[in-house]
Amino acid sequence: MVSESAAERLEAIRRQLPASTQLLAVSKGHPAAAIRELAELGQRSFGESRLQEAIAKQAELADWPALDWHFIGRLQANKVRPVVQRFAWLHSVDSLALAERVARIAAEEGVCPKVLLQVKLRPDPAKGGFAPEDLRQAWPQLRALPTVQLVGLMTMAPLGLDAAQRKSLFADCAALARELGLEQLSMGMSGDWQEAAAAGSTWVRIGSALFGSKPLSPPAWDAI
Ligand SMILES: *Cc1c(COP(=O)(O)O)cnc(C)c1O
Repeated sequence: MVSESAAERLEAIRRQLPASTQLLAVSKGHPAAAIRELAELGQRSFGESRLQEAIAKQAELADWPALDWHFIGRLQANKVRPVVQRFAWLHSVDSLALAERVARIAAEEGVCPKVLLQVKLRPDPAKGGFAPEDLRQAWPQLRALPTVQLVGLMTMAPLGLDAAQRKSLFADCAALARELGLEQLSMGMSGDWQEAAAAGSTWVRIGSALFGSKPLSPPAWDAI
């Protein structure tokens, strides 16, 4: 089999994306050269989940100031400042305390990041996120935070759901966003982005289906 190029994979995804859905290229575990290749093809939005790795790549790509960086990994409290300094979008704010910390540090840094609140709509021990009841309860305090732009919700489907269960989960996330008046929906990855896009996702976060290989895990990455 002839292996596809990044350009072919990007083109195939772009052809299938609805007009209302943007592509977030998840570049974690892939080198700056792979990001540069996609940037030269017009891709601007990139998602990273590990701070140290992202810092190194952002430095290598300093000649591309138009790139739009999204933090999608678990956000530790002690990493909020460096993340807020380097990322305009945070997809993984999963508690009121974390949102308050982001707001306080954003004020000190003179920035106003776009925040997507991570929600957990099905039981999943592997993932964080607001339960819908907790999000509704925290909502008045969240929306009063002055230095974050609350733009949307982010969710991930637990492993092991079938297609119908994923569709129902994505529909639930879209309904919760509508209820709260939030426009952005970050849902869908390499294995389920078509379903998420059909359910109204505005950001599909695609890594392996775009970069064409498995990302390097942190120890392998750190060895480069
Ligand atoms: C790695 C990652 C993705 C991309 O996963 P793929 O299956 O490679 O497309 C999307 N979202 C989050 C939060 C991730 O950590």
